[in-house]
Amino acid sequence: MKTYTGRSVCGGIAVGKVIVIGNRGHQAERYRIEAVDPEMGRMDRAVQTAREQIRELYERALKEVGEANAAIFEAHRIMLEDEDYLGAMREMIRAELVNAEYAAAVTGDHFAEMFAGMEDDYMKARSEDVKDISRRLIRILQGREEAEFSFVEPSVVVAEDLSPSETVQMDQEKILAFVTVHGSANSHAAILARTMNIPALTGVPVDLNEIHTGMTAIVDGSAGEVIFEPTEAQRGRAEIRKREEQERIRLLQELKGKKSETTDGRAIRIYANIGSIGDVSHALENDAEGIGLFRSEFLYLGRNDLPSEEEQFLAYRQVLQAMGQKHVIIRTLDIGADKQAECFQLEREENPAMGYRAIRICLKQPELFKTQLRALLRAAVYGNLSIMYPMIISVEEVRQIYRFVEEAAQELKQAGIPYRIPEQGIMVETPAAVMISDELAELVDFFSIGTNDLTQYTLAIDRQNQRLEDFCDPHHRAILRMIRMVIDNAHKCGKWAGICGELAADTELTGELIRMGVDELSVAPSMILEVRKRVRENRQSAVVKARWQ
Ligand code: PEP
Ligand code: MG
Repeated sequence: MKTYTGRSVCGGIAVGKVIVIGNRGHQAERYRIEAVDPEMGRMDRAVQTAREQIRELYERALKEVGEANAAIFEAHRIMLEDEDYLGAMREMIRAELVNAEYAAAVTGDHFAEMFAGMEDDYMKARSEDVKDISRRLIRILQGREEAEFSFVEPSVVVAEDLSPSETVQMDQEKILAFVTVHGSANSHAAILARTMNIPALTGVPVDLNEIHTGMTAIVDGSAGEVIFEPTEAQRGRAEIRKREEQERIRLLQELKGKKSETTDGRAIRIYANIGSIGDVSHALENDAEGIGLFRSEFLYLGRNDLPSEEEQFLAYRQVLQAMGQKHVIIRTLDIGADKQAECFQLEREENPAMGYRAIRICLKQPELFKTQLRALLRAAVYGNLSIMYPMIISVEEVRQIYRFVEEAAQELKQAGIPYRIPEQGIMVETPAAVMISDELAELVDFFSIGTNDLTQYTLAIDRQNQRLEDFCDPHHRAILRMIRMVIDNAHKCGKWAGICGELAADTELTGELIRMGVDELSVAPSMILEVRKRVRENRQSAVVKARWQ
């Protein structure tokens, strides 16, 4: 018996036979070429063949794992069009007179390393894509067939890492769990595991020489543990937990496509909170009815320069297009306090949570704000977008924002660029915004209550300080009364009110929030079906003593 722990990317329990996918390293010998042109021709033909294979894989993935997962091959296609990547390989052949395989291997390693060093998890995961593409090119150049990834028996797949194209070629029905030594939470195997709701672990320090095909393993996704060759007693306990877990998942899966409606017919919109473009697939996999909070900070974090209007526009458009006609609420920049970004070089403050942050930075730096606004107004043409502003404390701030939105629209109009001014709402996450929510409701299209910050400011409890956990009651009546007040004030003006802080996913409160009249709950993708289940079990008109009273 051998137990290892790793990082869980999907919970659940699996018990079964192991299949080890061995090291498929892309060894490519280096040799000197005599003439450059024929070698360039070889490289160009290999790139062409790879593009055709990727197209076929895309079609196949589309059928088998849906559009969100198939989109990974879009990244491969783009890489195969990328002039920097292709140019680097060609330049190596020309300048160093090396063979195409070697140029593909070295360039692939170089680009993979560059992506792996990036802060953003989504970009980090692209490192696997480049490796995958480079391996493909080498295989084509060497005239080798793709390895066989179909296996007969349902199995726990153990590997150094798994590329998207390898994962997609596996028979989905036969995968019990994934255990990989490397790979990120955004890898294709991880996304697939979450889609299929099977346990998956990454960063498991197994020595693949000691583990072999045919062994038995228990993978406990929630505990982040894998046991090879377990004892009979361990097996028995795992089997029981597995049956319980399967039943829970089966019941939740049945809720996909179902309405999020109370027993007395009140529909609550259940949206997803996301923090990167990669998360859109998680939202769709879990049947989100929309995106209720897209934290746009991911565009600014982990870099020294600011994202351009074009870069932002492309990112927002990608999300809108992936969501089709579904509603997408993008929140403008919310930097500062718990979210620091090097590109702003913010001065140190005594009390950053109450400092120069979020909308305050935007209002003080109009060019920065208008760049984001122009990108959003342009993207609005491509889908069902709403814009949401964080950390509002006054009516004047909202008026000032509208003036900037108007200026951004005028600038686009003058430049002849298509745009649309979408619905605009605010986050209600300061006690000030709660207390004047009657006035604010007249100005905005909707409210989304940010209970994370609202709790911090109301209870005077730093949300980052773990020592204060004992003092923090997330169900404090002050917070519940505030939520009630905000919803009431929104409704009096015919506006809607949702919650996008963590409290929205607190299923102990779902009934209470429904009875307060909440219109939307925006939660982590993995919580969508759980919250839908709660909504469907509740009555809005139920007579229950309210906790806020
Ligand atoms: C909140 O404050 O509740 C919220 C949703 O925003 P963030 O957690 O990003 O501050
Ligand atoms: Mg907040």
